Amino acid sequence: MKVMKFGGTSVGKPERMHQVKDLVTASDEPTIVVLSALSGTTNALVSIGEALAAADRILAKERIDALHTHYLNFYPQLLKTEKARINAEAIIKEHFEFLNIILKISFNEAINRDILAQGELLSTKLFYTLLEELEIPAVFLVALDFMSIDENSEPELGKISEKLKAILAQHPGEKLFITQGYICKNHRNEVDNLKRGGSDYTASLIAAAINASVCEIWTDIDGMHNNDPRIVDKTRPIAELSFDEAAELAYFGAKILHPASIWPAQQYNVPVRLLNTMDPQAHGTLIKADVETKGVKAIAAKDGITAIKIKSSRMLLAYGFLRRVFEIFEKYKTPIDMITTSEVAVSVTIDDTSHLKAIIAELEALGSVEVDQNQTIICIVGNMVSETRGAIKSVMDSLVDFPIRMVSYGGSRHNVSLLLDTQYKKDALQHLNEGVFNWD
Ligand code: ADP
Ligand code: ASP
Ligand code: MG
Repeated sequence: MKVMKFGGTSVGKPERMHQVKDLVTASDEPTIVVLSALSGTTNALVSIGEALAAADRILAKERIDALHTHYLNFYPQLLKTEKARINAEAIIKEHFEFLNIILKISFNEAINRDILAQGELLSTKLFYTLLEELEIPAVFLVALDFMSIDENSEPELGKISEKLKAILAQHPGEKLFITQGYICKNHRNEVDNLKRGGSDYTASLIAAAINASVCEIWTDIDGMHNNDPRIVDKTRPIAELSFDEAAELAYFGAKILHPASIWPAQQYNVPVRLLNTMDPQAHGTLIKADVETKGVKAIAAKDGITAIKIKSSRMLLAYGFLRRVFEIFEKYKTPIDMITTSEVAVSVTIDDTSHLKAIIAELEALGSVEVDQNQTIICIVGNMVSETRGAIKSVMDSLVDFPIRMVSYGGSRHNVSLLLDTQYKKDALQHLNEGVFNWD
């Protein structure tokens, strides 16, 4: 069995949905198809929630109506027969009635998550209606019946696997299953989600849960590029990545993959393929366990980083000091991304600043604290330790003109991370692209 996930752009136009139908029906083994919401829909739902949070019902209503119009224009181009169009109309009516009812009740976070779930429910139902119209046998699976997260918002892979296998067992002989990315239930049994871009994570979790032969992530680009193609000129797709390399790139900002989407596939050794819906023949990127890597392979950047320096000439070298620092971050469930130490100070970076004030207050008991916001981590991935003396040199040479705040090297053999002010990011990435990859 395999998993095929299609992102927002891949289902965002009626003709693209038809292409998706061609790709999934060409599969020669049973397939679970995971769909995102139509491109733009989740952003629109977020903005509806924001209007409601600001108690601006008029604006929320305007936004609901604009999204509604988009769907009313979409389905007649997707479907031909009267019967299928009536079904689509009923689906759209149901979901927009739901949004309009929400306008009338008092808003809270749980309702916001219900709003966000509408996009994937709509896209999968419309796609399923297309399959019905074309008499292509398929089974519609509701992700909320098997996809769950615990009280720390971590997916419950064991439970997911058990439930999904039981559901699949009810459909022996079926070859095509359609389900939603992104959405799940939380420990309170409320509708929740796997955070923005979470459909990749759904696909990888499903692939792990059923031990799939492959997890295909179909998107709008021909695989993972060596640098962010949105801001850097002359990037190229990478043919192969190891799980560790891909996880590092995803975590440190390569938007093509949700930051946590590699570990489930890696844990169950399911290869992941990044493929282009607009160019299905392109090789894309294959992510698997053993990959021979020489030198620098790719670069990613993560914005919104805060650096915290704790300075204490008395205490740093005393054992137990770092433990006390880390305990404070642990207490506030705030992960640390980078760490550098010197004899008198330790610097760490975080991206979740929701408890920053409280963290600083406690750190001040250990020494003087300095905070720098609007920082960017640039993560350089490849084989940086063996056989690659020149690699670090070319990284540093490319960045001689940039003020680098932190450098982390040697934590793993496939990563060097640098921290600099976000204002230098674009130029730094471009310099690295030219200096490290040495292409004409
Ligand atoms: P989808 O809607 O299919 O999930 P996304 O927009 O989430 O697609 O991810 C694909 C986009 O990621 C690409 O269009 C590209 O602009 C962006 N991207 C950022 N960094 C990279 C990278 N290193 N390689 C490829 N794409 C990247
Ligand atoms: N629709 C969700 C989002 O836009 C999930 C996804 O596309 O992966 O974030
Ligand atoms: Mg995405």
